[in-house]
Amino acid sequence: MADLVSALLELSKVFTGRMLQPATPEWDDTRRVHNGLIDKRPAVIAQCRGSADIAAAVRFAREHTLEIAVHGGGHNVGGRATVDGGMMIDLSPMQYVHVNPAARTARAAGGTRWGHFNLETQAHGLATTGGVVSTTGVGGLTLGGGLGWLMPKYGMALDNLHQVEMVLADGRIVTASATENPDLFWAVRGGGGNFGVASSFEFRLHAVGPIVTGGLVAWPADKARDVLRLFRDLTAKAPDDLMLVCGLLTGPDGATKLAAIIAGHFGSATDGAAAVAPIKSFGQPVLDAMGPIPYSALNSMLDAAYPRGARNYWKSHFIENLSDRAIDALVAHAYRTPSPLGHVVLEHFHGAATRIAPTDTAFALRTGGYNTLVLGQWQALADDTANMAWVRQTYAALRPFVGAKRYLNYLDQDDAGEAALSAAYGPNVQRLRAVKTQYDPNNVFHLNVNITPAK
Ligand SMILES: Cc1cc2nc3c(=O)[nH]c(=O)nc-3n(C[C@H](O)[C@H](O)[C@H](O)COP(=O)(O)OP(=O)(O)OC[C@H]3O[C@@H](n4cnc5c(N)ncnc54)[C@H](O)[C@@H]3O)c2cc1C
Repeated sequence: MADLVSALLELSKVFTGRMLQPATPEWDDTRRVHNGLIDKRPAVIAQCRGSADIAAAVRFAREHTLEIAVHGGGHNVGGRATVDGGMMIDLSPMQYVHVNPAARTARAAGGTRWGHFNLETQAHGLATTGGVVSTTGVGGLTLGGGLGWLMPKYGMALDNLHQVEMVLADGRIVTASATENPDLFWAVRGGGGNFGVASSFEFRLHAVGPIVTGGLVAWPADKARDVLRLFRDLTAKAPDDLMLVCGLLTGPDGATKLAAIIAGHFGSATDGAAAVAPIKSFGQPVLDAMGPIPYSALNSMLDAAYPRGARNYWKSHFIENLSDRAIDALVAHAYRTPSPLGHVVLEHFHGAATRIAPTDTAFALRTGGYNTLVLGQWQALADDTANMAWVRQTYAALRPFVGAKRYLNYLDQDDAGEAALSAAYGPNVQRLRAVKTQYDPNNVFHLNVNITPAK
């Protein structure tokens, strides 16, 4: 440890950020991630302020054989942003968004969060596909896919990338784009953190809002089957302007079980009102908060449902066809959640995100259907066993209805190895391995759903 401390002092000559060690007052808060179930203790946290800092930190960690974890927004449910005994490369000090309104592009630093990104781009009436909870990081979400409200109209977050600045395993700083290191650009669009540290992302932007149509309508749980069938009917004919999500959840009183449809429409106000009319007029909702809404507000209206520090355990799978039997299984299990924070959501994939070939980018989940997430979330350690059991039982009940595909960004810490790789990447595994072998032959960046290099 004394060696590490003196080496860190030496490093401070070429490192402009902060190196935190366990005695630092803010240590405990900084080492924590969004998921309170994760409680890892790095040896050192390198709070980077730019690409040169990241490069210095990567070289330092390699020289001192410290495992590297990269912290973007810290939202990964598997806790892949932190590590026991290694170095957390913390990008939280790197949060900026520079918008070029004329070119309709925005450059965001590797530690930026979506709430910040949306406010800066919306100041120019622009946006790109991003996460629906504003505290989620741009980094991990984009590198692993990025589903959000604009997905049917403009593709996944990664489909809107122009270029990414990367710090590689040997400390080199390179650009990945269609014309520079195109193989790396292909791989980072879906390959997660496997290929290096992304210090910045440049996105294509689109005219959006600022007022759009969206929100949530909810019915009592005894209508859940009907609501899921309505959801299925609406998704079957949804235009690219419309994104639909269905949730089986507990209301804000912590007791009332609800079935909800959450929607966002990004065409004209008239078309938006017409698109959500069948939702608002269906049966007798107990809650109707759907209508004109600022795009930024739509992207933060769910924040309170995901408090930092709550304990999370997730299982998800893609369901291509939502049969009546699948609906029965969902309804039979979803409401048994021991915690009011736990729920089941179905996120519909269609439109632009599904018109891209699975091999065009590393991200292979390009099918129409329902990304189905059993989201266990609770507050107390004493409730771990019951909540994790509910997630596993609900997931098991859905197994007869799922296909082979899974969404990378929702994989939990026990989703690993070849099965996870093949579910997330399908036909792209071999090419990803070849690019990994070229850019990270020693597997320096392995605290992710790991693509191992060829031996
Ligand atoms: C409350 C909540 C809401 C969510 N909502 C959505 C949603 O709407 N849409 C969606 O698609 N997903 C969503 N997710 C899932 C989310 O995409 C993943 O959790 C994602 O990993 C988060 O990225 P992050 O940067 O916050 O995470 P982190 O935990 O910091 O990182 C996740 C992984 O990416 C790597 N990584 C992060 N940043 C970089 C970088 N700059 N360079 C290299 N590697 C990096 C990390 O090393 C790690 O392996 C949500 C998750 C939560 C907890």
